[in-house]
Amino acid sequence: MSDDTERKGGLRRIEVPGGSASDQTSLSFRPDAPAPEPFEEGDAPVRLEIDDANLAWIVFDDPHRPVNTLSSRVLETLRRLLDRALRRNVQGLAFVSGKPGMFLAGADLDDIAAIRDARDGAKKAAYGQAIFEAVARFPRPTAAVIAGPCLGGGYELALACTYRIAENVPEVRIGLPEVKIGAIPGFGGSQRLPRRVGLRAGLDLILAGKTLPAKAAFRRGMVDALVPADRGREIAAEVLTGRRRLRVHGPGRIDRVLAAAAPFREMVFKKARENLEKKVARDQYPAPYLALDAVAAGFAGNEVAAYATEARLLGEAAASPTARNLLWLFRRSGEVKKPESLDLAAGRPVERMAVVGAGVMGGGIAWLAGEKGLPIRIKDIRLDALEGALATAGTLWARQVRLRRLTPARRDRRLERLSFTLDYRGFRTVDCVVEAVVEDLGVKRAVFAELEREVGETTVLATNTSSLRIEDIAAETRYPERVVGLHFFNPVDRMPLLEVVRGPRSSEAAVATAYRLALDLGKTPILVRDCPGFLVNRILAFYLGEALFLFESGADPVRVDRVMERFGMPMGPFALLDQIGLDVADKVTKVVQEAYGDRLPPQAVVGRLAGGGHLGKKSGRGFYAYDDKGKIKAPAPEASAAVQGAGRPVGEDEIVDRLVLPMVNEAARCLEEGIVSRPRDVDLGMVMGTGFPPFRGGLLRWADARGVGRIVKRLEALAVSEPRLAPSEALRGYEDGFYAD
Ligand code: NAD
Repeated sequence: MSDDTERKGGLRRIEVPGGSASDQTSLSFRPDAPAPEPFEEGDAPVRLEIDDANLAWIVFDDPHRPVNTLSSRVLETLRRLLDRALRRNVQGLAFVSGKPGMFLAGADLDDIAAIRDARDGAKKAAYGQAIFEAVARFPRPTAAVIAGPCLGGGYELALACTYRIAENVPEVRIGLPEVKIGAIPGFGGSQRLPRRVGLRAGLDLILAGKTLPAKAAFRRGMVDALVPADRGREIAAEVLTGRRRLRVHGPGRIDRVLAAAAPFREMVFKKARENLEKKVARDQYPAPYLALDAVAAGFAGNEVAAYATEARLLGEAAASPTARNLLWLFRRSGEVKKPESLDLAAGRPVERMAVVGAGVMGGGIAWLAGEKGLPIRIKDIRLDALEGALATAGTLWARQVRLRRLTPARRDRRLERLSFTLDYRGFRTVDCVVEAVVEDLGVKRAVFAELEREVGETTVLATNTSSLRIEDIAAETRYPERVVGLHFFNPVDRMPLLEVVRGPRSSEAAVATAYRLALDLGKTPILVRDCPGFLVNRILAFYLGEALFLFESGADPVRVDRVMERFGMPMGPFALLDQIGLDVADKVTKVVQEAYGDRLPPQAVVGRLAGGGHLGKKSGRGFYAYDDKGKIKAPAPEASAAVQGAGRPVGEDEIVDRLVLPMVNEAARCLEEGIVSRPRDVDLGMVMGTGFPPFRGGLLRWADARGVGRIVKRLEALAVSEPRLAPSEALRGYEDGFYAD
């Protein structure tokens, strides 16, 4: 069915509030409809222009912000503009952005955050649906000209148009990423996208919240035309005036059969549900399940009911604690671009960088620099390590090429940014060096002494140490003000967090340069002060330490891991220790133990296992035995043999409390010591650096939800038999919660 017939045939019989389906002269709302205030002309983020050919151009161009969003006020203004265009009897209507490299970034996050409850959310969704329905029923052809982000509500608007025209520019991202903030497409997207691209592709895009660049979106039928940069408007004008024909994309044959035959369709939904169940638990991440229900409702035969279902499910999803937490994290992670306690202007942009040490971390950092367009010198003392780093980067890019996310030509350009050396040639001109050699103070000091002789006068010297103090590494340098910490997390290509560490003598300029580099590398930086383990590893040491203590007292590591996975951690503490490497963990725990030993349990078992050659995943054995591909085969019996006897059985709640509450306790100490300045940094750090369950909003949001007062009491009770678990004075100071709101 062509899109035109679909439009005219009135498949979508949603009532536009205030206007019947036949009312084509006005879209005005009934008086009791909760219409928000529209914007005044002149200051409006959206305006109407009618050209000589009697084409209407609805231009999104927020005068106060770099992005265009769809707040309810913008929607209301849009509704009035549609009304006006209708009355002017225009020949066609196009949606465009007045900002280059931008279309519509989605619904306004303030609006989503302000949703009070499920009913309120459903009402807001129905309101948006009605306006987009008016677009879909506009009596003349309509088009969206996409030359930048076209996400969420922005893409739902495009889906309501007759045509979607994307410019082939790198700024374009198209999709419905709502599930990523715990919501679902609520302005008709769960209904229209599967009809446009087919049921299977629609589900794939919506349930994972995928967003695609222009070319990929065109290939999948998400847009109907891919046109050269800056030609979108001209081509839209030709299409809308009938001077150019454009075929509207529709589902392929198999998808049409699937859509028509209920048993086949049910199989598709069942499979999608099973896949979801393998990935996320419904009680933790309800949104993809609700999105699936919304899509399924669209195929049940009653279109009005389907849209109502979509609105209801959006309300349910958006009002859930998961959505509140995910949205909160999303907004906080956006704020890191403007740190409050650092003057970014004091730093310089990094145009060339270097890394010393081409091991696990150095290889990852080399890849990241190449990926983000930064030339990087990579130095090691061993040729095979350099080869290894090249192989690491090469493998990551090969995968992207295989998945068609990168062309071989682009891969080659990235590879060309990497250059390798066994000496310090080329270091004079780099703006920042990251030291990533072995975790040994003596070796690191020797490397810094060499670096000082080899780099330029303003080069920032960063260390990637996991546990040593910046102050100790910088102690013997001539320019301690240029030494900072840049603590990446493993694997560098996947972990978003970067701790930018301000040593006691680091200059503002050096810290700001490192922070800017972190942003340019696409990471989420948090600014932390110097202490062993910095923020994230220091807090994590208490989690891992307590897990090891449980193990030594007879707890089954498989069970502990399962309990923590159910809590939402990406892997349990023992699988994590194996991944870190038991030799590395042993070294780090010794340093951390030295600093905080009185409140950490002794942890001899890791040293015993590492000493016996059980290094974890990399040696094929640790707490678990691994197959050739690095997958867990079974628990390793020698791990259990390393401890004596079976202890008392520990309940699931106690496992969670014993592992998580000491982290809360230590986080309070970090705040008191000023390691970070705000609870927000703890939550971002733990989610982005350790995978602490995002649906819980972070360690301290979780603590607040549980009640800090109750946590204090629980720690007091646990401390009766384990005195190290006693609540800190710092924690008692937060009895009313870490967050004021
Ligand atoms: P690694 O053992 O994989 O690599 C270290 C590399 O440094 C080796 O290639 C070695 O040849 C090289 N090297 C040793 N001495 C050198 C010297 N004088 N000059 C140049 N190169 C030298 O270690 P890694 O896991 O990549 O860790 C590197 C650093 O990053 C450590 O400080 C570690 O604590 C930190 N770190 C590691 C992780 C992790 O999970 N692996 C995470 C965050 C931070």
